[in-house]
This record gives sequence, structure tokens and C-alpha cells, in this order.
Amino acid sequence: MPGLEDSLRRPVRGMRDLTPEYYYALKRVEEALSKLAESFGYRRVETPAVEHFEVLAKKAGRDIVNEIYYFRDKAGRELGLRFDMTVPVARVLSYKLDEPKPVRWFYFTKVWRYDEPQHGRYREFYQFGVELVGSASPRADAEVLVLMAKAIEAVGIGDYVIRINDRRVADKALASLGIKPSEEVYRVLDKRGKVSEEELSSMLMGLGIDREKASELLSLISGAVPYAEAPEVISKYDEELAERHRAVVKALEAFGVLSRMAWDPSIVRGLDYYTGIVFEAFAGQYRLAVGGGGRYDDLIELYSGIKTPALGFAIGVERLMEAAGIEKAERPLDYYIYPVSSEAYGVAVEVAEALRAKGASAVVDLGEWGLREALERAAKTGVRHFVIIGKKELEKGVVKIRDMAKREEVEVELSRIKAGL
Ligand code: AMP
Repeated sequence: MPGLEDSLRRPVRGMRDLTPEYYYALKRVEEALSKLAESFGYRRVETPAVEHFEVLAKKAGRDIVNEIYYFRDKAGRELGLRFDMTVPVARVLSYKLDEPKPVRWFYFTKVWRYDEPQHGRYREFYQFGVELVGSASPRADAEVLVLMAKAIEAVGIGDYVIRINDRRVADKALASLGIKPSEEVYRVLDKRGKVSEEELSSMLMGLGIDREKASELLSLISGAVPYAEAPEVISKYDEELAERHRAVVKALEAFGVLSRMAWDPSIVRGLDYYTGIVFEAFAGQYRLAVGGGGRYDDLIELYSGIKTPALGFAIGVERLMEAAGIEKAERPLDYYIYPVSSEAYGVAVEVAEALRAKGASAVVDLGEWGLREALERAAKTGVRHFVIIGKKELEKGVVKIRDMAKREEVEVELSRIKAGL
């Protein structure tokens, strides 16, 4: 039989099979990031992968709507796969109105986008992120930035920068050039770094901005400075906003992560729901952003009808792992148990159960191979101990345990193993 044709053996375009080596590495990252979020008082949330299309479309903005996996179910409902977790969380909070504020939730889960697949860009990927809902304080901004910084550090990346801007400052900077801030302009500016300056310029001109203004705008957004200097820059536009960022700077300083933060007026984020601070994280030489976030004070109201300030971030887990050089984690088997005869099988099962009860992993041979072949096959899988239960061992009331790395064998009394020693 020829089996499946080649293209069907591979996952659907833009999606990936996560084999155990990679999946365990991902799980370790999940554990580290969950522990971090929980240590800051955040609690984990999960929602269905499938959402009402209307709920997704409400916040998505034009670009993202085109990226939604859309379908109808058998009853004709219009549905879609979630493209991030901010929308589902906003929906949950629209009926869980009594959740004590501020709400601190985090997630580590899959999202789907019908994006053009390329390196670091998939159609199914994991996001880790937090949502801090119900606080307008600049300390809330700082808390979320600190969590993002610590999440990056938690996977062993020390060389990173979080680039920060503020939509209200960006609005004022645009207005100072006589350009009306709009989602279209921000969407073009968000392409900076992804397309050439010449292309950017012509895209801006396509929005009715003349060449001179476009070039003034591009030079205005080109200067990044340490975030500690941001209040000085912002005070040229708005003293109140400068004061707010002074408070964020102070809080970041208290957490010791201020030096990792830059003020970068080119970070605008493509979506139109941001209302305040916006930011993106870059790690080492990794070209793409590993994460992004910001404040969206009007978004929750879209769903609940109640004005609720909020902010959050999302990190692309696969990108973070790639930037950190994390590709696989081994999870070797502790014991491979080989009963030489059928009389020994029952004992092998008992031994396996005793070892499992102690938290070890154990496989009992399925009786298809001779001892030598079983040993060879087990060695290939990287098992730690090979346990032999033969006639001699049964008579003596022991099992033989071979340490595969040291190539040493010891006899251990059966009664001790069964007693969990
Ligand atoms: P966004 O809110 O769209 O900026 O997404 C947050 C983060 O998710 C990004 O910074 C990326 O790290 C990650 N991300 C976004 N889109 C993709 C994708 N198509 N494939 C893999 N990771 C992605």
C-alpha cells in the first residue's frame, strides 16, 4: 500500500506537530511562566477555542478580521477560532461582573490566525500573557511591563529590550505635524522595520499625507532613547502624560528592570483598541517581536457596557523559545522491566506498580523480544534502569537492576521494592 501522499503526511499549512522532545520543552516553559505569574497573584484562565464570530469581529480591526478562522457549525451558527486571549477574557468579564477588581488573570494556550506562514509566523501557536483589568494606575502599567520582562528572563534570556510608546503621545505627535491620528496611519507605522522606509513613505502618501509630511513623520518616530528619559520627551507634548510616565519609570526602577526599557516612538501597534501605553519586546538578535501589549481602556466596555480600564501583554511562546535557544527537553524513562518467563510477569507488574507509586516511570516489556534485543531497544530510548526478573531472581526473591549509564548491576530484594524503599 502506498499510504498517504506526501503533502498529507505533513500538518496543515502554517501548523506544526509538536513531538514529545519539543512538547516537554514547551511544558517546562509553561511551568516556569505559570509560576512567575502566580507569584504575582495572577490566576490561570482558559476558554473555548471556538468563539462567536461576532464577539471576535467586534474587536479585531480590519487586518485581523481577515485572519480569523471562520466557519459555520451544523446549526448554522457563525463561529471563529480565537486569535488572541484578550477578547475571550473581555467576554468572560462581561458576564462575570462581580469578579473582584482589579482582576489578575493569565493564560498559556493556543490561538489561531490565518496569517501568511513564514519563519516565526504560524497559523496555530501558543501565547502566554496576562490581563490586569480594573486599574487605571500607572503602577498597573509598570506591573505588567515587569511581568513581561521577568517572563523573558525566566527562560534564560538576559539580553532583551522592551520598546515602549504611548498612543496618546503618538496622537499628539501626529497632530503636531497636522496629521489626523487614525487606525490606518497606525497600521502603516506598525509596518516600520518590516518594509523599507521608501515603501512606508509611499503607503503614508497613499493615505493623503504629502511627501514632506511623511518624511517628517518618519524622522519624528525614528529616535529611541532610554525609557528613563521618556518623561522629558513627552513633556514637550503633554505635562500630565509626562507625569504619568514618571510614575511608571519610578515603579520600574523599584523592580530593577528600568535599564531594559526604551522609549521608542515607532512602536504604535497595529490595532486600534489601544488607548495608552503600548510596547513590544525584542530578545537578543531575534528579529521578530517576542511579545507585545498595551493599555485598552475602552475594550472591556465594548463587551460589558461598563467602562473598565485594563491592560495586558501576550508573548509568542514558540518565538520566545526560539530566541532562548530552547528546542527540546528529554523525559527519559526510569525503568524498563523485563520478566524473563511468563511466571515472572506478575512480579514484573507488581514491581512496576510499586515504582510508579513512588513517582517513577516504568514500562513492562510486552513479551515480544528476547532479553538481548529488549536490552538493545531499551538502550536506544535512553532508559535509566533495566530490571531483569528471571528464574534465578524469583528463587532468591530479588530483582536485578542494571544502571544503563554506569553499566553496573545490583540485586535488590523484592520485598524492599514492594515496600516502596
Ligand atoms: P500581537 O498581539 O499580535 O502582537 O501578538 C503577540 C505576540 O504573539 C507577538 O509578539 C508574537 O510573539 C506572537 N505572534 C503573533 N502572531 C504570530 C504568529 N502568526 N506566529 C507565531 N507567533 C505569533
